[in-house]
Amino acid sequence: MKILISNDDGYLAPGLLALADIMSKIAEVTVVAPERNRSGASNALTLDKPLSVSRAGANVFFVDGTPSDCVHVALTGLLDFRPDLVLSGINQGQNMGDDTLYSGTVAAATEGFLFGIPSIAFSQVDKGWDHLEDAAKFALNLVQRKLDMLDQPYLLNVNIPNCPFAELKGVQVTRLGKRHQSEPVIKSADPRGNPIYWIGPSGEAKDGGEGTDFHAVGQRYVSVTPLQIDLTHNRQLDILKKAWQ
Ligand code: MN
Repeated sequence: MKILISNDDGYLAPGLLALADIMSKIAEVTVVAPERNRSGASNALTLDKPLSVSRAGANVFFVDGTPSDCVHVALTGLLDFRPDLVLSGINQGQNMGDDTLYSGTVAAATEGFLFGIPSIAFSQVDKGWDHLEDAAKFALNLVQRKLDMLDQPYLLNVNIPNCPFAELKGVQVTRLGKRHQSEPVIKSADPRGNPIYWIGPSGEAKDGGEGTDFHAVGQRYVSVTPLQIDLTHNRQLDILKKAWQ
């Protein structure tokens, strides 16, 4: 098996190193990841400049671009093989609910999925890398499961509570929850007195009820959400069609 690994925290992030390390037990692993932290990059592709790829090891490359750039370049020109699986992470911090739209971690996996390859995004719920080895062990378990029953390719979003492996209660297959609107920007001033703005924190869970990713990790279950990319609102589609009848 050949696995391509990327992330959005950068090619030196502990989460990526742990994931690459453990996957190398069962697969040929190639890492293509951003040269620096690009968390929140979403699915951005760099179109206004060329991308440089540098080598940091036999099968480790870093790119001066976004997570999507990394997987895109890997799959369409850099690699001389087609990976069987694309993995992203392990991210420092959760990617649940509406946050998945902004996530560079989910985006790297999405890019693999869009090229027809089964892809999985892994995130630890809390920042700080606590129990990273345990999260990596869970990721290995998941990758070793046969998921042939799913439509191929599949795209999974996995959030792992930061706790010892033995204390994980198991897996809950979930839907994305919803958040309240984000906190406002934080206004400040640069040294010349010009106003500057920091994006504020995301809102609290609005739909964190049973069956959601928020609820599962709150109970110490690993949350596994199958994702799709078609954003069409099918009910609105029919309503809107009637407006032009
Ligand atoms: Mn990140």
